[in-house]
Amino acid sequence: MAYKISSDCISCGACADACPNDAISEGDSLYVVDPEKCIDCGACADVCPVSAPAAE
Ligand code: SF4
Ligand code: SF4
Repeated sequence: MAYKISSDCISCGACADACPNDAISEGDSLYVVDPEKCIDCGACADVCPVSAPAAE
């Protein structure tokens, strides 16, 4: 299991700063989660203004 960021992402970058395991990076059109690094903590979903990250 890992979190995934939906197309609602507005690329604000808040989740990348909040992720304790550096699992989030800026992609071409939105931010993306590296499933190998995600530890399912939910911090990204807590800080996202548009609720784009969700558990898969
Ligand atoms: Fe990072 Fe936690 Fe979000 Fe996974 S759930 S991407 S570890 S902030
Ligand atoms: Fe996208 Fe939400 Fe992350 Fe901002 S906090 S970059 S809107 S997923």
